[in-house]
Order: sequence, then C-alpha cells, then structure tokens
Amino acid sequence: MSGHVIALSGGVGGAKLAHGLYLALGAGELTVIANTGDDFRHLGLHVSPDIDSIVYALAELSDPVRGWGRRDETWNFMEALCGLGGETWFALGDGDLAMHVERSRRLASGETLSGVTGAICGALGIHASILPMSEDAVRTRLRTDEGWLEFQDYFVRRRCEPEVREYAFEGAMQARMQPQALAALERADLRAVIVCPSNPFLSIDPILAVPGMRDAIVRCAAPVIAVTPLIGGRALKGPAAKIMQELGFEVGAGAVARHYADLIDLFVYDESDAPPTRAADVPVAAAHTLMNCTADRVNLARRLLALADERPTVHTP
Ligand code: GDP
Repeated sequence: MSGHVIALSGGVGGAKLAHGLYLALGAGELTVIANTGDDFRHLGLHVSPDIDSIVYALAELSDPVRGWGRRDETWNFMEALCGLGGETWFALGDGDLAMHVERSRRLASGETLSGVTGAICGALGIHASILPMSEDAVRTRLRTDEGWLEFQDYFVRRRCEPEVREYAFEGAMQARMQPQALAALERADLRAVIVCPSNPFLSIDPILAVPGMRDAIVRCAAPVIAVTPLIGGRALKGPAAKIMQELGFEVGAGAVARHYADLIDLFVYDESDAPPTRAADVPVAAAHTLMNCTADRVNLARRLLALADERPTVHTP
C-alpha cells in the first residue's frame, strides 16, 4: 500500500523511528512534525534541538554513541570558548555550530523556520518534509522544586535533576499551526499518523498544544498509532519515567496509552512487556520497539505500516 505518512516527533527517540519510516517509505512519502518547544537562543544563535536530531538522523549524520549531535564531530569551538571564559554548559560541536549559524542567518534575513529547515534538508539530500509544529515561538517551561525553569536550563544545565511539579508551553495559545503540517494532515491519501516513542509530556504534548493540531489529527483520514517510549517501565534515555512519577502518574506504558487515549486508534507496547492493563479503551499491539540499529528502526516502521494498513477503527470526529 502507498500513501502519505506523518510522524510526530521529539528528538532522540522520535528521530530513530522517523529514520526507520524514511527508509521504509518511498521518496516524498514522509512528513515529520517536530517539537519546537525546546528551541532557544544560545550564544546569539537559534537552536532547534529536535529538528536537528531528526535532520541528522534522516541524513545519517547522527552520532550513534552520544545519541545526539553529529557523528565525527570536533570540538575546537567549545575549547576556544572555554578558554575565553564563555558559556560552555550547552555543548555545540563544530559541525553542529554550522547548522545553528546557517539557520540563524537565514531566519534573520526573513526566512521562516520551515523554509530554512527545507533548504537544509535539500542541501543534505533528504527527501522528506521536516516541519516545525508552528512558525511561532512556543517555549516549554517547567515548574520544579527550584521554581520555574526554561526547558534547556532544566534538561541540560540541571540534567533533569529538579523535581517537576507542572509544565507549560508559553506562547502555545497564540501559535498558529504550521500550514503545510495542517495540509498534510488533511490529505486524502494519508496512510498513517505515527506518534513516535518520544517523551509524551515534553516532546509530544507541546506539538498537541498548538491550537488546531489535536483536532486535525483526530479528523484525519488515517489510523493514529502511538509507540511506547517506555520499555519495562523505564525510559531508555531522558526523564520521561522520572517526570511521570513526579507528576503522580503510574509509571508504565499503560499510563502513556491513557495519556493519548482521546487521540489514537492503536497503542504499540514493547513485546518484552506484558500487554498494558488499564490502557483505557485503546486497542494495543506488541512490537519490537527497541531500536539499537538501523534494521530495528526499519523493522519497527514496517510493522507500524502493516498495522496501519489493517485499518484499526479510525477515530470519527
Ligand atoms: P528528546 O527530545 O531528545 O528528549 O527525545 P524524544 O522525546 O524524542 O525521545 C525521548 C524518549 O525516547 C525517551 O522517553 C526514551 O525512552 C525513548 N526512546 C529512546 N530510544 C528508544 C527506542 O529505541 N525505543 C523506544 N521504544 N523508545 C526509545
């Protein structure tokens, strides 16, 4: 079966599956709607961490060991910056720095974030559309036991150590949905919408907070399938499980399924786990969701496409 596929994605976990889908589909068949709630200005530059993780994954430039940034990276800029007593808490490799400089230059000359991302994808030979959820600034902030923190202050500078009590997406209410993202969700030939195994609270919720996004997903013509970011009740990387516990959720795939219950047609849990109990009324299916290599990514993508092609009951608005 052919048709267009949309993936909602944060950074590291989402980018792995986006890469699998990209390889499993034909050229031009994938649109990735990326979280931009983590974007921030640093050293005068516009940094879009999740867009970059997706771009690097699809261009096969990601560092496989660190899990973020570019492979074969060099760090001359950071060393020189350190020697000047500059701000070094957010690591920017030399190659990665070129991305932020080029993006910032184009944005300053009036291009949109999607325009810049499209141009960079073109230069890197990526035949998929990677779109920010909105061209407008939405900024994730967290209320912690240390007070309100900007996302990168919490995530990188404080290494997710503070206890999270609440989170908010500043600017979301005024943000407009990226028009091509809306058009993609309205396509008649839509085959699937995949909610990638990203942090549900910090990577997917900001996307869903953009007015119109949730409605467009529920109304779309295709099955909506979410993949668990938790295996054995734990996050593979990052604070998803810690935040769930701090916010008073039961920690596990079932709670993630319940979190998405009004949005999805199918929840995919990891085959090494028991089927989630109390997954609301959401149908569930098992898959090998651990993506340690490219073959894992492609196999998971193919399994999701097969599940979508079985057409689980599509949400009716
Ligand atoms: P971030 O924006 O960089 O934090 O990245 P994401 O939100 O996209 O991804 C973080 C989530 O990805 C974490 O909750 C991880 O548990 C999950 N994750 C990472 N690798 C894998 C994997 O191979 N399989 C599954 N199922 N989840 C993964």
